[in-house]
Amino acid sequence: MSFIVAIDGPAAAGKGTISKAVAAHFGFAHLDTGLLYRAVGAKTLLGQDAVFAARALDPVDLEDDTLRTPEVAQAASQVAVVPAVRQALVDFQRSFAARDGGAVLDGRDIGTVICPDADAKLFVTASAACRADRRYQELAGKGLAISPEQVLADVVARDKRDSERATAPLMSADDAIVIDTSDLSIAQAVATAIAAVKAKRQP
Ligand code: C5P
Repeated sequence: MSFIVAIDGPAAAGKGTISKAVAAHFGFAHLDTGLLYRAVGAKTLLGQDAVFAARALDPVDLEDDTLRTPEVAQAASQVAVVPAVRQALVDFQRSFAARDGGAVLDGRDIGTVICPDADAKLFVTASAACRADRRYQELAGKGLAISPEQVLADVVARDKRDSERATAPLMSADDAIVIDTSDLSIAQAVATAIAAVKAKRQP
């Protein structure tokens, strides 16, 4: 039987960590849908047309380690504005969600557009300063030469583009449970999310 958990929110709010933990806790499969847009964005940086790249996307493309760079993140949010790119990625996400045994999908429009009937919806957010600081620590930890100011500017630019686009903008579904992780430890954020999903699993 399927059970769909939709987790949306802005960049570096903790969605990835929470989604992986929720999936592991309930034994569900997990799809980071940001990787789809990153994989398409990465192909445009190599000169490919975005719509062509989205239509030709292969799941193997999601395993590329270079998808986590700030350049690819910006390219992802640029291709994510294009309706035909989004449309090309819908079926893959919906079939993943409908699999037997349960699925967690995290992204920007899962609870609103991809899986509006998801069994549990979370919207994970945090202040821009807090998210930029976390992302900076993560990138600096990987040895990337980038300043905290640049990371904050990138996060703010991506938030703006993701929230203001006409098609499937970043927003909370009306029936999503909002978790602000600004003042929560990872353990607290994960426990809050698991409790919220558990409550939806109860008959
Ligand atoms: O989640 P992540 O930061 O990896 O996403 C990269 C970009 O992909 C986002 O900034 C957003 O523009 C786009 N995206 C999207 N819809 C999703 C997931 C990601 O538009 N469901």
